[in-house]
Amino acid sequence: MAETLLYEGKAKQVFTTEDPDIVLHRFKDDATAFNAEKRGSWRDKGRTNAAITTALFGYLETCGIATHFIEQVDETTIKTRRLEMLPVEVVTRNVAAGSLAKRIGYEEGTTLRSTVVELYYKSDALGDPLLNWHHFRELGVSDEDLEFCEELGLKVNAALWPFFDERGVILVDFKIEVGRGADGTLLLADELSPDTCRFWDKETGDRMDKDRFRRDLGGVEDAYAEMLKRITGGETL
Ligand code: 5GP
Repeated sequence: MAETLLYEGKAKQVFTTEDPDIVLHRFKDDATAFNAEKRGSWRDKGRTNAAITTALFGYLETCGIATHFIEQVDETTIKTRRLEMLPVEVVTRNVAAGSLAKRIGYEEGTTLRSTVVELYYKSDALGDPLLNWHHFRELGVSDEDLEFCEELGLKVNAALWPFFDERGVILVDFKIEVGRGADGTLLLADELSPDTCRFWDKETGDRMDKDRFRRDLGGVEDAYAEMLKRITGGETL
């Protein structure tokens, strides 16, 4: 396949293919946090995140949620539709943690009265700030697209909350991204993995996500492997 590197992110590379509407996402073992101030890497991270994203996007498709995902092509690579990305990160939260706990002065672990959806401006230079609709309008994002983002966050949450609950995991929060295909339709894009979600064990409250890396809690490799096992029902790498 004629592959050219189109984009290199902190944890992924995106390659073109012979089909202009299709790209490959290769998941790397690298990790960054705090706007790339902290860097690390661990074995099997790319393989684990590729397998988890494949399983979760496949599940969401069965729930009627349209995504960019086409198929997994090798251990670390998925094939997707090529999209024009909205400059928005949609964060959906069930339990207060991370920046929300700080912003509104809640103790981490407080269950929220109702699901909170937040829209962040995807800009490394600005550190991905939380913006309101007025700001996004100023930046040229339409109300229609913002509404789609918020509704998609809620739909994905409604599908994933029970999925994880059945597997003994609290879906604390997660980040998704949205892009527009050549035909104009908006689709769920990017990835869903322990890099982009907070997963807490229902029984012990143990963190099974990237916070283990961000907060130097140790056991990050095992936590990702455990999440893969819970999601795929026993499959390990
Ligand atoms: P917080 O705003 O509390 O730091 O993050 C909320 C949720 O969104 C967490 O699950 C976090 O992993 C995810 N998230 C927010 N921004 C980013 C980002 O730039 N990169 C990644 N990988 N995840 C993010």
